[in-house]
Amino acid sequence: MTDDARTIDINGRTYHWPRQPVVVVCIDGSEPGYVEAAVETGKAPFFARILAEGTNRLADCVIPSFTNPNNMSIVTGVAPAIHGIAANFFYDPDADEDVMTNAPKFLWVDTIFKAFFDSGAKVAIVTAKDKLTPLLGHGLDFSSGRAISFSSEKSDQTTLAKNGIERADQFVGLPVPDVYSAELSAFIFAAGVKLMERDRPDVMYLSTTDYIQHKHAPGAPVANDLYIMMDRYLAQLEDMDCVIGLTADHGMNAKHTDEGEPDVIYLQDVMDSWSLGGQARVVLTITDPYVVHHGALGSFCTLYLSADADAYAYAAKIRELDGVLAVYSRSQGCAEFELPEERMGDLIVISEKHKVLGAKTANHDLSGLTVPLRSHGGLTEQRVPLLVNRPPSGLAEDRRLRNFDIFDVALNHAQ
Ligand code: ZN
Ligand code: ZN
Repeated sequence: MTDDARTIDINGRTYHWPRQPVVVVCIDGSEPGYVEAAVETGKAPFFARILAEGTNRLADCVIPSFTNPNNMSIVTGVAPAIHGIAANFFYDPDADEDVMTNAPKFLWVDTIFKAFFDSGAKVAIVTAKDKLTPLLGHGLDFSSGRAISFSSEKSDQTTLAKNGIERADQFVGLPVPDVYSAELSAFIFAAGVKLMERDRPDVMYLSTTDYIQHKHAPGAPVANDLYIMMDRYLAQLEDMDCVIGLTADHGMNAKHTDEGEPDVIYLQDVMDSWSLGGQARVVLTITDPYVVHHGALGSFCTLYLSADADAYAYAAKIRELDGVLAVYSRSQGCAEFELPEERMGDLIVISEKHKVLGAKTANHDLSGLTVPLRSHGGLTEQRVPLLVNRPPSGLAEDRRLRNFDIFDVALNHAQ
């Protein structure tokens, strides 16, 4: 059997061994329309080619349409009910504390990277923010010389033992970018090109930040510039004969009033004003250490109710609120969106396209919102692009694609 015929089984799926390097890019917050608008400028020839001649489909992301659950679905090939990461953080009712989901102990399955690595592949992972690095690199042996994983945010702190590379910033030859900047994403692609030139990894994953998409709609000059930058680096990867698959962790929509104010339902304040008995606690699972650009306001939240609270009464009253799209019980919502019940509250609430859900007015610091709010989290940010720089082969037209099918499409339907 030749290498070309090898397959890898992981999390119930089978992947072909890459015949040439396979690069998967998660463009954070890449609502459909961003790529197309950049192509219209005439300055994004790689994207123009991929739209016209490659695999050009739409896919559904995981709900909640947040970064961590979707990145982890993309790199495991399965839904959060199976991998366990259902939010950027979750509330642990037993300990009565909010827990960040960025520790590997919360991840229930191995990644696609680990499966390929264990079979001898070279793997490289570069992300924007450091929060995902421990999860994405989980199970890789960085002293092997076959695995590299680091974030542009902490690229000046990388070590051979921890990341598989010493001082990644010096290797890339760029200064460490500010965590709230377009350069944070540019650094990732520069690193990807350098790593491809030096190591030619079999599998590479590049995951960006949605800082720009939170501030600029498709077609805005700043947004176009971001995609034109990506285009330049992706063309270099294509010249190195890489299969390149692109998708997004979630979309992005305007979430403000005509006056430019965030259009928020402060659900904790609203519920505190009701006399329904018991207590209800709003948990905004978009929250992570980087909230400046969205003020922790997204279109999905979960509610923990005290034992004496009437869940039906709360659900019925929340459903009547203007701007609420859907309310689910824990079991309904987890069945509908393939989420782990142990990491969700008693109720799940999703707001409409241009509304976001907050907790208490007083607790949201919106001083960092320098432009009208754009955000995500709900069903209205579920559609994302799924693109590969090769025409599809054996990919059914009517197959409902998920963003976490990107490795399947890139490895099994494009090479
Ligand atoms: Zn994201
Ligand atoms: Zn975001």
